[in-house]
Amino acid sequence: MAEEKKQGAFDWYFKTNLLARILIGLVLGAILGIILGFFPDSIKPFVDGSKFFGDLFIRLLKMIIVPVVLFSLIAGAASIAPARLGRVGIKIMVYYLLTSAFAIFIGLLFANIFQPGAGFNVVGDAAVKATQVTPPTIAQILLNIVPTNPFESLMKGDVLPIIFFALVFGIALSYIKDSKQAALAKSGALLIDIVNGAAETMYKVVGGIMQYAPIGVFVLIAQVFAQQGPKAIGTLLLVTLTVYIGLIVHVVVTYGGLLSFYKLSFWKFLKGANEAMVTAFVTRSSSATLPVTMRVSEEKLGMPRSITSFTLPLGATINMDGTAIYLGVCAMFIGFATNQPLTFNQQLTVIITATLASIGTAGVPGAGAIMLIMVLESIGLKITEGSAVAAAYAMILGIDALLDMGRTSINVTGDMAGSAIVSKTEKELDMSMWKK
Ligand code: ASP
Repeated sequence: MAEEKKQGAFDWYFKTNLLARILIGLVLGAILGIILGFFPDSIKPFVDGSKFFGDLFIRLLKMIIVPVVLFSLIAGAASIAPARLGRVGIKIMVYYLLTSAFAIFIGLLFANIFQPGAGFNVVGDAAVKATQVTPPTIAQILLNIVPTNPFESLMKGDVLPIIFFALVFGIALSYIKDSKQAALAKSGALLIDIVNGAAETMYKVVGGIMQYAPIGVFVLIAQVFAQQGPKAIGTLLLVTLTVYIGLIVHVVVTYGGLLSFYKLSFWKFLKGANEAMVTAFVTRSSSATLPVTMRVSEEKLGMPRSITSFTLPLGATINMDGTAIYLGVCAMFIGFATNQPLTFNQQLTVIITATLASIGTAGVPGAGAIMLIMVLESIGLKITEGSAVAAAYAMILGIDALLDMGRTSINVTGDMAGSAIVSKTEKELDMSMWKK
């Protein structure tokens, strides 16, 4: 859409490189937000007045999640042999689990070095009410993947049941396409063409929506900085820094290392992935970013639809390395801040519970903060009304949006890195896109 020749007032807008525009929106938004932060009275009118423009961006992205996942995955599953699908599934699950566990290790490591919250001596207040989260059982989690009514799942946008149904549909379709009855084979091939066409159309829509991204980004970032900037720059600076250093180190060391191990250029990866990384940063939602993640993985990083259509929606739902780092650092912060630093054994427990919690985290803004409660409970730090733990937790909630931006961006980056590696090992990566 950007390529079309446009005349008139908005010429300059469409002619400027998209990433440059998005980054300009990001920087200007941050500057405006920080300035507004100095004038507390101006924040509410600004947030109310600009809400429409930020919400519009998020709604546009959400509009296409379900069709993108459904069409791409049916087309993808129909084009891959079931045995290979199984192999891809195992590889990506191993990657997702190991990188998440490693992410928490990195989070804990930096939290041990920087000790955020040490010396805070937080005492109880009634800031947070007692909250109970009961983790679902494994059987429940597995059963929920199978939809009782796929149309209901589509309507509600439940990604895992949609993945399950689309996989089943796509695999069945691949058998129909190869049927010995000519008429059946023909209708199977036709249906695959249609589904592929629908997926392409959706990617085109994503491209169009991204033209609006710079404006959406500007507004969303300004809102977050105006509301939370001063706190994160003040007392909670060290937590924010520790989380962000952990995130950056994870990207460079873990993803950079793994990609180079598989002879893929880390730089080219970042260049291809950046649109999705920035979108995740501002929307704070892996799910909302999914259409962008899928588009750039195919169009800029040369991954095949047969793999990404499966690994990326799955990753957006269960693979949350950024959240894992955040959970590790924040558990440590709350321990330090309430004068009960986590013991070695408690930290080991955190590695296990935070890995599980990150899998269970929904790809929506702020979901990680809810899972943090579960991680804290697993090490005996209960959030009861008026307790010191509740007060320390409330401090984290105060800056959660800022932490959420970084962690969501890394959540999405991890999905793309894993999908690239699996595509490479399956010899399905279009290497010409990594050479340019
Ligand atoms: N917002 C994150 C995501 O969508 C989840 C979280 O809150 O940690 O990936």
